[in-house]
Amino acid sequence: MLLQFTNKGIYCPQADLYIDPWRPVDKAIITHAHSDHARSGSKHYLAHKDSEFILRYRLGTISLETLSYYESVTINGVNISLFPAGHIIGSAQVRLEYKGEIWVVSGDYKVKQDGYTIPFEPVKCQHFITESTFGLPIYNFPEAEIVNAQMNTWVAENTAQGLNSIIIGYALGKAQRILNGLITDRPILLHSTVYNTNEALGFDNSRYQKFTQDFQKEDLNPGVIVATASAMGSPWLRRFEPYKLAMCSGWMQLRGARRRRNADMGFVMSDHCDWQGLNEAVLATGAENIYVTHGYRSIYAKWLREQYKLNAVELETQFEGESIENSSIESIKEESEDAA
Ligand SMILES: [Zn+2]
Ligand SMILES: [Zn+2]
Repeated sequence: MLLQFTNKGIYCPQADLYIDPWRPVDKAIITHAHSDHARSGSKHYLAHKDSEFILRYRLGTISLETLSYYESVTINGVNISLFPAGHIIGSAQVRLEYKGEIWVVSGDYKVKQDGYTIPFEPVKCQHFITESTFGLPIYNFPEAEIVNAQMNTWVAENTAQGLNSIIIGYALGKAQRILNGLITDRPILLHSTVYNTNEALGFDNSRYQKFTQDFQKEDLNPGVIVATASAMGSPWLRRFEPYKLAMCSGWMQLRGARRRRNADMGFVMSDHCDWQGLNEAVLATGAENIYVTHGYRSIYAKWLREQYKLNAVELETQFEGESIENSSIESIKEESEDAA
C-alpha cells in the first residue's frame, strides 16, 4: 500500500512523507492552511503556492516549498501533484502515484462553487480519502448566489432600521466569501483577525476599516461588521449596539442551531461538501477504495458500501472538519490564538 495510517498521520513510506500530519515530522505535505491540517513543528513543508503567505503567517518561520496545481514532483519514484479542492484559497487534493497505484488525499473540499475559490476538480484514482463533515442526507446547501442575496437583503433591512449588521464567520475562507458576496454602500468594519488574515492572503482590504481601540460608533452609522466567532457573547459586541447578528455556517441548516447560539439570522454557507456533493465527488474519482474521515464517518462509509458497493472504511484522524465549523460557533480557543 502506497499510503499507511499511523499515529502521526497519513504516511507514504516510499517517499517518506506525511500528509497533514498532526505531529511534527520531517516532510509534510499540507492540503490547506486550516489549523487542524497545517500544524507547526515539521522540518519541511510542501503546499500549494496560494497557501504560502497564510502558512507563514500561521506557522511562523518554516521551510516551505510550493507547487502550482497540476505541477508535480517525484520523490523516490513517487509522483506527487496537487489539484484544486474548492475548500478555501490554496486548498489542494494531493495525488500520489507509484508503479500504477494512485491515491488522492482530498483534505477538506467542496464541490459547490462559491464564486471565489478555484473550483474542486475530480481526480481519477483507486484510493480516495474523503472527509464527511456533512455526510448525512439532511445536508443540502443552497447555491452561493442565493445565500449572498439573502445576506444582502438582510443587511439592507437592518440598515433601513438604523441597525448595524454583524456577520460571524471563520477568519480563513468564510470571511473572504462573506466580503466577496457583500454588496452595500455602508462602511464595513473588520475584526482584526479577519483583517490580518485578509492581509496574509493578499485579499484586498482597501475597502474596509480595521477595528482598533479608537473606533467610534459614529463611523458606521449604521454599517457592517465582519467578525470571527471569538466575538460571540463577548463584551466587544456591545459597542455596536443596536445591531442584528448573523452566523455563516453549514450548521445553520439545522433547526435550532441559530437559536441556540443567540443569533438573529443564520446563513447556510459552508466550505465543505453537502450530501450530494460528497456522493458526486466520491463517484467521480472512480475509486473503489474509499477512506472516510472527519465527520459522520461510520454512517457515510456504510452508505458507500451499501449504496455503491464500494470498499469503504472509516479512517480515524485528528482532523476536525466538524468541530472547526463548530468552534467558529462554540469555542473561541482556536480563533483567539489567531487574534493574538
Ligand atoms: Zn479546512
Ligand atoms: Zn478539516
